[in-house]
Amino acid sequence: MKNNSLSSDVSKIIQPQCAPLSTVGTDRKRAIEPEKKSFAKQNKKSKSHHSSTTTTTAPMLDFESILVTLYELKEDKRFIEVMAAKELRQAKNVLVITGAGISADSGLPTYRGIGGLYSNGQETEEGLTIEEALSSYIMRTEPDISWKYICQIESACRSAKQNAAHEALVALESKFEHLTVVTQNVDGLHRSAGTNDLIEIHGNIHQLFCISCDREKYVDDFDGMKIPPTCNRCGGLIRPRIVLFGEMLPTSALTQLSEIVNQGIDAIITIGTSSIFPYIAQPVLRAAENNILTIEINPNDTKVSHVVRYHLRERAIIALPALLKHLS
Ligand SMILES: [Zn+2]
Repeated sequence: MKNNSLSSDVSKIIQPQCAPLSTVGTDRKRAIEPEKKSFAKQNKKSKSHHSSTTTTTAPMLDFESILVTLYELKEDKRFIEVMAAKELRQAKNVLVITGAGISADSGLPTYRGIGGLYSNGQETEEGLTIEEALSSYIMRTEPDISWKYICQIESACRSAKQNAAHEALVALESKFEHLTVVTQNVDGLHRSAGTNDLIEIHGNIHQLFCISCDREKYVDDFDGMKIPPTCNRCGGLIRPRIVLFGEMLPTSALTQLSEIVNQGIDAIITIGTSSIFPYIAQPVLRAAENNILTIEINPNDTKVSHVVRYHLRERAIIALPALLKHLS
């Protein structure tokens, strides 16, 4: 009892990124206690200089030492990783949300997840912002311009290969009854890695369609294609099935996402996304409110970092294979 009330007091002071021990529920608290002790023991050995009191005489009363240990655990990446994996092991239905960060280690830039070829505010040769060049208006009125930048993005995507993070996500599928990946990336790397249940919420750059007759075509390589391409059947303009700036999200993808959330999920893992779009942040915020396990993998703070139970401050290519290892 003494330890629990002490943990509770300390957690109020240090405001940990992962859930404070006092808020994770009695059962979970009981389950993690042995882990906490073993890490605490390990840390005490290496950090004994933090305390002026020897632990052999009165370890239970050494408040300063416990405070230091808890603070170190809060910052200990491996501890957070082990605890996150331990809870994740209990999950059956898992939702994974990915952003440009997961493709960064495949060599794709992370700017707004649509190609990353321009920094904010930088103008294109035509004097447009990249958002204007890649808008539905310019695609309709000056498709050459939109296509020029779409080809640049496609070329970058084509030369990129899936990385260990994409592959770890595929391997994670076998650990749960159901795992769905929702990605904001248009690079198709989850698809090429072999993810089974995939929602490409911003589309896939290689999936082309005719704006007049809706004829679809999957094109692996845009090299040598006439720009802007036109439909063989009706002569209409062809464009990729991606969400251009100023466009609505595809209803089918949003419906799929909300169905998955409403059916009930036990855990959400959000990876390499700043979660600036409400439809990306909302499932995480809702899950956190309902005390559902939330794990964030991102070296930086994001719009959801303050609510997630575990924040693994690592690149996806490091954190996901590690998480997989702990689950195996
Ligand atoms: Zn057509």
